[in-house]
Amino acid sequence: MNLLFASSEMYPYSKSGGLADVACSLPRELKKYIDVYKITPLYSFIDVKKYKISLYKSFYILLGQKRYKITLFKNKDTIFVYHKILCDRKKMYGYKNDYLRFALFCMAIAETAKILKVNTLHLNDWHTALCALWLKEQKNPAKIIFTIHNLAYQGIFDKQVLSKIGISPKYFNLENLEFYDKVNFLKAGIAFSDILTTVSPTYAKEIRTKEYGCGLDGFLKKHSYKLYGVLNGIDISFFNPLRDNFIKYNFDRNSFAKKTDNKKEFVANTKKPFFIFIGRLVEQKGISLIIKNLSEFSKLEAEFVFLGEGDKQNEKLLYESCKKYNNINYIKGYDEKLSHRLYAGADFLLMPSLFEPCGLNQMIASRYGTVCIAHQTGGLKDTVFENEKRCSMGFVFCKYEKKEFLEAVKRAIKLYEDKKYFEKICKFNMECDFSFEKSAKEYLKLYE
Ligand code: ADP
Repeated sequence: MNLLFASSEMYPYSKSGGLADVACSLPRELKKYIDVYKITPLYSFIDVKKYKISLYKSFYILLGQKRYKITLFKNKDTIFVYHKILCDRKKMYGYKNDYLRFALFCMAIAETAKILKVNTLHLNDWHTALCALWLKEQKNPAKIIFTIHNLAYQGIFDKQVLSKIGISPKYFNLENLEFYDKVNFLKAGIAFSDILTTVSPTYAKEIRTKEYGCGLDGFLKKHSYKLYGVLNGIDISFFNPLRDNFIKYNFDRNSFAKKTDNKKEFVANTKKPFFIFIGRLVEQKGISLIIKNLSEFSKLEAEFVFLGEGDKQNEKLLYESCKKYNNINYIKGYDEKLSHRLYAGADFLLMPSLFEPCGLNQMIASRYGTVCIAHQTGGLKDTVFENEKRCSMGFVFCKYEKKEFLEAVKRAIKLYEDKKYFEKICKFNMECDFSFEKSAKEYLKLYE
């Protein structure tokens, strides 16, 4: 078996969220068992020298009436797709011509699959979804597995784009790409894949309901005969507090006291519990529950640091509010190193997500002996339990409400008072197995 794994972002080359982490660590694990090629765009911000990326080959593709020259680059680990329309941008997403940028990427993946003669393709999220349609059109016998990492992002565009990217109007119907008189790229992945997965068992159930289905619940129900939920994992060699180069004081269960040295970087009084939030500042991550609770948090004997960027209004609101409180700090931005130092120094991680397909932060936190406070939704429901015997042990709340969240934080503070017991829980969580080994084995079964 040989597999081509395609993703619009891939750590360490590009990353906006968990997809990049998964696109790095899942193929690495799969390589232990099968031949794996990875493919991703060569965005202009990727340091070609640093990653030893060199020219591989080029070819022309046809989209609508236009021919585009695609250049492939590679290093020993990954194949990179370059076309200036796709790659010469400051950010990865959010442009008017994203339909064309990712259509180019999809056609380039299909062409590369042919060149490499792979028999299995693993496509991820809407940016790669059209590739499924084109592979079937080209009668490529390769089998396609399509993973939805977040149903909230579907790649919805005006119907006029279809002719520009050469997709026949015969696909503009409910069974295929049509979505309320627009074009929905994600639907191509759902309709034309052989196997459909999402990133946790609970989310696989949730997306078939009206509440979480983002308008596609009916369509997903129809395709549920091929839908599976495979829980993500993390790269436990990268997220390893004993070897992590980003943190000052490395530690493991046996040298747990050193975690406090990491905490000192952020808080003056290490006796107080230290809470962090790391993530995109969007509604999905429960940012409004955090903002609504800020004044309550300010009254607690605890310290808070929030790291993130995203919705401009949320950034501003958080910045303005946090200025008022001595015990709450907001750091705007995306900072991988700082995030590791925070995971290492914190006692608690806040994850009040409104919905969460899987979530990686809670798994990373667990590895660094940091206890998670989580809303019971999606992957959080599969990984955080208010039960000291289950991995990982944390604090959970069921109703997405300000008060329930605050109560969970207060329960956490209460537990923290019993230092010995708290340490026992942290150490227990550090032993939880969130490695990619289990997930990789499940994917292998599905590929077969
Ligand atoms: P998402 O929905 O954003 O993909 P995940 O929980 O799946 O959420 O993955 C988030 C990943 O991105 C984690 O590795 C987390 O530590 C990282 N991350 C999110 N925001 C930031 C930030 N501002 N700085 C550093 N790392 C971040």
